[in-house]
Amino acid sequence: MYRQILKKIKKYDTIVIARHIGVDPDALCSQLALRDSLLLRFPTKKILAVGNGSVKFSRLGTLDKMENLEHFLLILLDTPDRKRIDFPMFEQASEIIKIDHHPFIEKIGNLEYIDEQKGSTCEILMDFIKKMHLPITSDIAKTLYAGLVSDSNRFLFDSTTSQTFELVSYYLKNYPFQLSEVYKSLYMRPLKEVRLQGFIGENLTLTENGVAYIKIMNEDLNRFHADSASGGNMINNFNFIEEALVWVIITEDIKNNNIRINIRSRGPVINQVAEKYHGGGHMYASGARVSCFEEADLLLKDLDKVAKDYIKVCEKNENNL
Ligand code: AMP
Repeated sequence: MYRQILKKIKKYDTIVIARHIGVDPDALCSQLALRDSLLLRFPTKKILAVGNGSVKFSRLGTLDKMENLEHFLLILLDTPDRKRIDFPMFEQASEIIKIDHHPFIEKIGNLEYIDEQKGSTCEILMDFIKKMHLPITSDIAKTLYAGLVSDSNRFLFDSTTSQTFELVSYYLKNYPFQLSEVYKSLYMRPLKEVRLQGFIGENLTLTENGVAYIKIMNEDLNRFHADSASGGNMINNFNFIEEALVWVIITEDIKNNNIRINIRSRGPVINQVAEKYHGGGHMYASGARVSCFEEADLLLKDLDKVAKDYIKVCEKNENNL
């Protein structure tokens, strides 16, 4: 499949690299690294990495301005379904290649390379770029590593394998970069966000079946001078709370007139619940947007049910929670 992907890339003079809405480091870094590597290999091609950026991730690199294009190949990264594509012109692409690690939702591309076992799209690209002998620089290695570290939550998830470490080791050894720079670009944040994190910790509510949640209202955001993405961006900082199997950050988003929900789990499968509420994601890391707090409450109820069922199965199998 890698060879077929490269063959298609060679065929086109214009290539657009897009990803999902609600940019995150894995989606962004996979675009930037693939663009930079392909530009080194094919300097005469027009290759654009497009989509809405975010000030928060501006240290990771710069996206391209969209142009009017004809006859182009679209490489869609880290995006399982049409509704989440951050590129309105995607239907005008002559052909589409999809590379993703999300659970499959729908076929979009003429060629699709999906590996649900991988912790990040950047890890897939590390393998692809290496095996296809595409150019790598220290900057490209650093960018891929940033996406991998972010989506694997610093190698905490079970999707991290010996192959992950082998790839990281290969890149770090042959294209050295400073790890501290990566962590600075991913994790540096203003004090107001740390204070908001304290507020979340203080105000988490716990259901009977181990679902910890908080509802952050717009007035709370204003008090901490934070935006509607800030709370959800911290969700991984609440891993390993003994009493919580599932944890949820629910944030009022006045600007978009909806409610943003970020969900994580250390056991119960949550993406089916997220899908029921127009969202999606991975088995243990999902998100959704709902229209009102009543709908958020229904989602919480469903998560609580999933957690309850999980506890029952664990008790039956005498597994530790
Ligand atoms: P987040 O909590 O934003 O880091 O998202 C966790 C996972 O859920 C990622 O794989 C996202 O792509 C996915 N996700 C987040 N929000 C949504 C949504 N509204 N619809 C579908 N998938 C989502």
